[in-house]
Amino acid sequence: MGANDMKIIRNIEALRAVVASSKKERKTIGFVPTMGFLHEGHMALVKAAKAENDIVVMSIFVNPTQFGPNEDFESYPRDEARDTSLAEQNGIDILFLPSVETMYPESLTATIHAQKRVSVLDGATREGHFDGVLTVLAKLFHLVQPDGAYFGQKDAQQVAVVQGFVADYFLPLKVRVIPTVREQDGLAKSSRNVYLTEQERADAPVIHMALRRARMEVKEKDKTRVLANIRAIVNQKKTHEKIVYLDMYQYPSFEPVEDWEKPIIIAICVQYSKARLIDNEIIGGA
Ligand code: AMP
Repeated sequence: MGANDMKIIRNIEALRAVVASSKKERKTIGFVPTMGFLHEGHMALVKAAKAENDIVVMSIFVNPTQFGPNEDFESYPRDEARDTSLAEQNGIDILFLPSVETMYPESLTATIHAQKRVSVLDGATREGHFDGVLTVLAKLFHLVQPDGAYFGQKDAQQVAVVQGFVADYFLPLKVRVIPTVREQDGLAKSSRNVYLTEQERADAPVIHMALRRARMEVKEKDKTRVLANIRAIVNQKKTHEKIVYLDMYQYPSFEPVEDWEKPIIIAICVQYSKARLIDNEIIGGA
């Protein structure tokens, strides 16, 4: 399939049919699950998926079960026309755009509950978030039957939880992790960046700058100091409401730091007036 014959699919039967015919032709499937409002971060996942597979399926679904009651499900940015044309330009073969009713026709008989790697950071501050992520991914993985599924390191806790889930249930797919794509000034690309005011947008690169500085200081193995310095740098800017969390763990276990030679993640979440931004640095390891 070329760039001009992207299939747009909205229902389960049609998706199953196109997956079945791809499987019959022994084509490998790369899958890029997203919530849309596409940007270059998503496209880096697409590029890797295209390089490693015969066809690429992208889903765009703002999944209600991963949003808490006071979160931005309603106001999450959506633009189907723009996303569709970007997906086509980027060589997606199959674009799956289900409705909430399509993905959740019934209340669930059995639920998925994330219980490791989720007691901190987004797992602690967004109750039920990773249960919702795994629930929708379980549905999507069963439908798409991908050989590889592509995720961004920007959502590093999500990556760790998904990798654990895929391993636990022997799901027959590879989880591929793609480095965070950034704006020129270092701000991690995110669909939510459109909700930054002009001043917030000007200040937000401080998040990445502070994390990068911390990368050097980790050598001294002083967690309190590393985190205090990040906090001080971020708080030199005044537009954010607060730092929701800032912490450091072994990666991907999200256990307390004990072995400084093993991979460590420093993760931060900053709340602006209408956008909650996350970023991280992983230090050590591959
Ligand atoms: P989202 O649409 O925000 O749920 O993101 C869909 C996928 O794209 C997730 O695996 C994200 O981690 C990934 N992603 C989002 N932003 C970036 C970025 N700036 N760089 C790399 N991957 C990203």
